[in-house]
Amino acid sequence: MGVMALDPETRRYLEHFQRKLLRPDFDKWVEHKDFVVRMTGEAGRTMRQRFGPNFSPYSDALIREYEKELSDFVPATSYDTATSHLIFGDIMDQVQRSLQDMQRPLQRPVRLATSTDANPSPASVPSQEEHLLFIGEGTSFFCNYWAKFLSHCLTEGALSSDGPAITAPDMDKFFHERGDLTTIFVELLLHYAFFGHLFGFGVLIQPAHSLRFRLELLRAMEVFVVGHEFGHFYLEENPRSLDPADPLRQMRLEEHFCDQFGFIVCRYFGTRTDSWFAFSGAAPLMFLSALRLCENARAHLSTRTAPKDTHPPVDDRIGRILYTALNDTHADNLLAVRGYLEEVGAMWEAMERIARDIFELAGAQSGESHEV
Ligand SMILES: [Zn+2]
Repeated sequence: MGVMALDPETRRYLEHFQRKLLRPDFDKWVEHKDFVVRMTGEAGRTMRQRFGPNFSPYSDALIREYEKELSDFVPATSYDTATSHLIFGDIMDQVQRSLQDMQRPLQRPVRLATSTDANPSPASVPSQEEHLLFIGEGTSFFCNYWAKFLSHCLTEGALSSDGPAITAPDMDKFFHERGDLTTIFVELLLHYAFFGHLFGFGVLIQPAHSLRFRLELLRAMEVFVVGHEFGHFYLEENPRSLDPADPLRQMRLEEHFCDQFGFIVCRYFGTRTDSWFAFSGAAPLMFLSALRLCENARAHLSTRTAPKDTHPPVDDRIGRILYTALNDTHADNLLAVRGYLEEVGAMWEAMERIARDIFELAGAQSGESHEV
């Protein structure tokens, strides 16, 4: 696969960052061959039995292609994983194509390096010759589990494709009746709250008919995440003084700029690939909403003090993307986009209420045990 040749100095530089980011248990969760093993193993066999050997995500031909790419893969550094390069190399190509559509191509090349910190958010590092993007399994695990859970909810009737609009009380009723899905939701939050990532969450069973939604949503989320980082690279090449007097505000405004950038990249991708999750803005909103709930859960359960954040509050980021999603939409699509995003919002409101109830309950119980 197309890994750019690496000079010894760049290699040392990349490995230095990867060593700094490295989680002690990173190797345990990231196995280069795991990707193919999963697809050729039990899960892949079941899928191919259900959909036939030519079903595209698990077709024999595609698996052979992955196997070849994995066996041909030569890690550029001692921390690079094949799966991160396979997954995000492809996503980067999609983002570059969107930028060409937008007539905003980057001038410098982007080099992908595996992120070793398991964090859902990637890191980008400016450099003279090329842009460095540290991304990997932390992002793909996070997006994958949430896309699985959300697509499961969607195919169980959480949102309506036609018929009356679904409101927050409808969603409360939905989660009340679907204890199985509510349990998965709470488990995702608790896992993230304790570990700060979704590595090792384990098998999440998903009905076969929601697989297509899951793959579409997953890809759209990943395009948004990578598009956001490309926004940082774009700013690096085309610096803007958003608020030069206040460095923190400048950084936060840059983050908003990158969100808008990621959203537009994602929308172009959605138009080209006929992805409603990408086009409507639902995928960026779902990614950020999941991140917000996970980070809130972590703040509730963790005693560590959060590092000073240069990012704006996630609520603001969600609000601004929603604003862009509606203002950037042609009148022909506006009704459909607005209706859908309102339903997506109702779903998250209901999930937020569940999370709040749980953590208030946990807080109340720990308070009681103190008094005893
Ligand atoms: Zn950013």
